[in-house]
Amino acid sequence: MTLTDNLRQTAERRPDVIAIKMDDTEISYAELSGLAARTARWLRDLGIEPGDRVAVSLPNIAQMPILYYGILWAGGVVVPMNPLYKDREFAHVLRDSGATVFFAWNGVAEQAAKGAADAGATFVEVDPATFTGHVTSHAATRAAARDGEDTAVILYTSGTTGAPKGAELTHANMVRNAEVCASDRLIGLSAGDVVFGGLPLFHVFGQTCMMNASVLTGATLTLLPRFDPQRALEIIERDKVTHMGGVPTMYVALSQFTDRGTYDTSSLTRCVSGGSALPVEILTAFEEAYDAMLLEGYGLSETSPVASFNHADRERKAGSVGQPVEGVELKLIDADFNEVPEGSDGEIAIKGHNVMKGYFGNPEATDAVLKDGWFRTGDIGRRDDDGYYYIVDRAKDMIIRGGYNVYPREVEVVLYGHPAVASAAVVAIPSQMHGEEVAAVITVKPGMTVTEDEIQQYTKDRVAAYKYPRVVRIVDELPLGPTGKILKREIKVG
Ligand code: AMP
Repeated sequence: MTLTDNLRQTAERRPDVIAIKMDDTEISYAELSGLAARTARWLRDLGIEPGDRVAVSLPNIAQMPILYYGILWAGGVVVPMNPLYKDREFAHVLRDSGATVFFAWNGVAEQAAKGAADAGATFVEVDPATFTGHVTSHAATRAAARDGEDTAVILYTSGTTGAPKGAELTHANMVRNAEVCASDRLIGLSAGDVVFGGLPLFHVFGQTCMMNASVLTGATLTLLPRFDPQRALEIIERDKVTHMGGVPTMYVALSQFTDRGTYDTSSLTRCVSGGSALPVEILTAFEEAYDAMLLEGYGLSETSPVASFNHADRERKAGSVGQPVEGVELKLIDADFNEVPEGSDGEIAIKGHNVMKGYFGNPEATDAVLKDGWFRTGDIGRRDDDGYYYIVDRAKDMIIRGGYNVYPREVEVVLYGHPAVASAAVVAIPSQMHGEEVAAVITVKPGMTVTEDEIQQYTKDRVAAYKYPRVVRIVDELPLGPTGKILKREIKVG
């Protein structure tokens, strides 16, 4: 089975069910598959052959699922990117993936076009007002033959270290994980359910657990381009949303939203949280406020994503990321991939149908994380006597700000580009709203002057908005280890 087969089957079984809703726009499953078939023809005219990579960067608007399934229908590989990226970030992904065509939302056309020009990719601006007209000017074409082992998507993530790499996920990875997500013990989706689409579809969590799980089951996905608690509540009430997926920041915002009582949210039955740790107080506050079950799961881009979950039919343990999902195994390992003694903390390793092929075009990085089918996550975990896992630390250098990953190295490279910066360290500081916040601590070259605001503006101009440091501190010196390495864990940001 492929993701395209899922769409075709649902379109045959439930042609009139609304697949995608975005305010006044409603697209049925018959229409979605028709639009995908026409988009595929457009892509063929642009020279796309099966196996070719096609990049897309759009917020959660109806054109995203159309392009996603259109690329797959043409046999292409989808390379989604965050629309908040700046030109250099777009160019890196385009070059690394070898994507020859890049579709980007007109709201970010300037940065996207620059990135495409830099990487030598054909740029196609997606104007929501005229997009369907372009698509329907093409004839429908048959879906390209693909099988489960063919690559469906390449998702850019830094993994445990270094620059963003492309996690290559097959149709089988994505289909199986969507099936697991949709099953009764996890999200519990079926035809006629209404899924809140506030999680970005360019990220694996929104893609698999919301979009692909909806297409698999014939549920309706109602999109919100930019999460905001009030808009979310309006949509939940308007569309009688039954299921929601979100990152903890969304549940914090919804739990704390003072006017929540004025909205009818009684349709909501089951919600899932992932992407970063869900504080127990938020879990309790949300369930009390909304009278809906909130289940926490864990996973990564490299694992399609869901690896473990607090299953609905078993004891739930708040603060735990639950037990491995069906067809997936977890274990705790040391630096050599050996299992640690029972009761010890170790790095979580994952094996199963959800584990990626590898990092695209990067066998060295792939070999560092994959051994005998086991994928090492860079997350440090603990397992209790009942087999529930807990994330206790992160071995990898990564900050999770409101569900978005920020790789300190990427921001540090930009900081070092500033003429006055002598040394720089990007670290996490706790934040009630975002879980973690990005902070930069720098030293200044002798004889140079610069202000904290100037440094902040400099990075803001060069990286996606969620990555720039909200706090900048200039210090006399940074703590250094014996090899001269900056000891980040010793940095205290006052
Ligand atoms: P990504 O590659 O963007 O999917 O991010 C994956 C990372 O998010 C994991 O390696 C974890 O560090 C983190 N993560 C995901 N789910 C959870 C969770 N439930 N609790 C704590 N951290 C999580």
